[in-house]
Formats: sequence, C-alpha cells, structure tokens
Amino acid sequence: MSEKKHTHGLATRAARAGINADPGHEGVVAPVSVAATYVRAEAGSPGAFDYARTSTPTRALLAKAVAELEGAAGACLTASGMAAIDLLLNDLPLGARILAAHDCYGGTQRLFNARAAHGRFDLVYADATDTRTLEDALKPGAALLFLETPSNPRLRITDLERAAAVGRTAGALVAVDNTVLSPALQRPLTLGADVVVSSLTKLINGHSDMVGGALCAASPEAHERYHWWMNAAGTGLGAFDAFLAMRGLRTLPLRAKAQSATALALAKRLAAHPEVTRVNYPGLPDHPGHEIAVRQQSGFGPLLSLEIRSDTRAFVKRLELFTLAQSLGGAESLVCIPALMTHAAMTPEARAGAGISDTLVRLSVGLEDEGDLWRDLDAALKAV
Ligand code: PLP
Repeated sequence: MSEKKHTHGLATRAARAGINADPGHEGVVAPVSVAATYVRAEAGSPGAFDYARTSTPTRALLAKAVAELEGAAGACLTASGMAAIDLLLNDLPLGARILAAHDCYGGTQRLFNARAAHGRFDLVYADATDTRTLEDALKPGAALLFLETPSNPRLRITDLERAAAVGRTAGALVAVDNTVLSPALQRPLTLGADVVVSSLTKLINGHSDMVGGALCAASPEAHERYHWWMNAAGTGLGAFDAFLAMRGLRTLPLRAKAQSATALALAKRLAAHPEVTRVNYPGLPDHPGHEIAVRQQSGFGPLLSLEIRSDTRAFVKRLELFTLAQSLGGAESLVCIPALMTHAAMTPEARAGAGISDTLVRLSVGLEDEGDLWRDLDAALKAV
C-alpha cells in the first residue's frame, strides 16, 4: 500500500528553509558563499557551481525555498524586483503585445512604457479587475498578460482564476506580481498563473535591509529559459543579499499574519474616523474585492491606503511611528504619498485613470503594537 507523503505546513517550510544545508562544516544554517568562481576538476566539466554570475550556493538555497513556497518549478533571483520583471520581458519576441493592469506599480509602468517607446513592445493597459474589459482588451491577442493583485497602492483585487482563464484563452502568458502579499498569503500559480514576480525587498525579506527580486515559473522549460537570460545578462542576486533574504524568509508566515491582523484592525478604526473619507483595504467587508480576496488570499496583507479631509503632507509629517519612506512589507511601519513618491513616474493622467489621487496616503503596517500605531494615526489626524 502506498503511503501518502505528508506535506509540511507553510510555517514549517519557511522556518526550515536552507537548514542543514552546509555540507562543508555542518552548520545549522549555511554560510554566505562569497566565491566569484569555482574550481574545476577537469577543464570541460564544471561542478555544481561554476561562476557566481550563473549561480552561488547561497542564491541557490534561497531560490529553492522561494520556488517551493510559490509552488513553482524554479525561481530566478535577481538584483531587484524590477530586474525580475525585466527578466520576464527578455523572453518575449520583438513587437509582442503586452496587456498590463492599469494600476500596477509605477516603476513597472515606467519600465513597460520605456521599452514600448523604444519599439520593443506593443503595450496596452486595462482595468484587469473587470473581466469584460479584460476580455475586450485581449481580443487582438497578447503575448503577456501582466496582473498585480492586490494592486499597489489602490489595493484593487483581480479575480486570478477568472483573469488567468481569460488570458490563457487569448494565448497570453499570465504573470502576476505577488509583491504585496508574498507566497505566505497568496499563491497565484495555484490559481492558474504561469509565472509570478516578486520584490524580495518587501514582505519576503521583511527587514528593509536588502533589495532583490524573484521570477518563479510554473514550467521547468520556462524556468530554464529565464535562468539562461539571467546568466546572460548578469542580473542575478548577490550572495549577501540572498543570505539576508533567507533569514527574513524563515519568519515570513509569522510576520505576514501579524502585519495583516494589525492592518485590518487599523483599517477598521480608520474607516470609522471622522477625518478619514476613504479607506482602501481588501479586508473591509465593503471593499469591492473583499469576497474575491477571502477566496483567493489567506490574509489581507500589510498595505492599505486612505484619503483624509485635511492636508495630506502635514498629516504624514506629523506621524511618528510611520516613517515617511518608500517601500512596504518591512517590520517597521512606513507611510508614503504615492503620487509624489512610488508612483511619481506615472503621468498625472495615468495616475488619475488608475484611481491614484494626489492626496492618496499609503500605509505599510509593520510589527509595532496596534495600540501604539493607532494612537499615532489618531493624534496626527486630530492635529490637522
Ligand atoms: N512590484 C511592486 C508591487 C512593488 O511595490 C515594487 C517596489 O515597490 C516592485 C515590484 C519593484 O521591486 P524593487 O523595488 O525590489 O525593484
């Protein structure tokens, strides 16, 4: 009788990532392998590692862990989240049609727009949360459908199963930017996506002390091609950064859960505050994507955005526990004004179309005590 193999839970897999993987010295955790090149026994036969641009033991351990968490055949780890997105583009033919979600991250739009302006792609944006709009935009076909859910900073939710099915029917490769939630809270490959891109800089590392990205492919063949490009272009993640991200990843499920719980509590309190006119958080029952989020996510994540009655710039300066800085998903809470910061590269028209007003405030909720964060928000709101 064949015995069914037990699959460990998420927290176990994360906590055990890269443990007992130091054949040299049997350290419980593996060391940072800094070698740029590796000894060959024979000129014609490389060993498991050959040259650090191609792979290093430290990067390989983290890649295995990230691929495992996403349910991918493999992960290519890159020097930034943007490098992972660019890696995905490398594999598309000249003139390929890209359909991207109109409210995806501003840096992604900057890259897509610049490549399209140079004639590399035919680029269209559409509201991917609306299946009919998506179907219409995909009628001429597309090589790539690029989705981001929840979207940064508007926290719009795309029904991944539906969007992936529509994309696949149109013959597109379906890619999802999973940065805002990480594989601890959402696994797009299990919902029909072909590839997942993530900024390791955010929740996965979680300590705001490195920059990196991951491109995870469902198919081994696609993973091989991406790996070829990463090596050819030399955009792989450095060993120290891989080591740091591995350290962060071991506590990812715990952090993602705690940050989501605090973000939900703050979102509820903010929604009831007289100085607040709007809160965007998929965990709120009146959020238009709430039911889809409940179905396809296992938590609502650390990010929320809001509109307030009074002066936004004065408000963000008054906050003490929310540091005014770009980025998200770290242990420390951050605040930003996307129109002036993370999404400044978009044109005002593109921002308006994506629902990103000049006064939208984005909060990334960290691991501080909920009561302290609330007192900070409430005091800053009262003072303006
Ligand atoms: N995708 C999303 C949703 C992001 O928010 C970011 C950065 O903020 C990126 C991609 C790019 O990641 P990185 O800054 O690591 O290049």
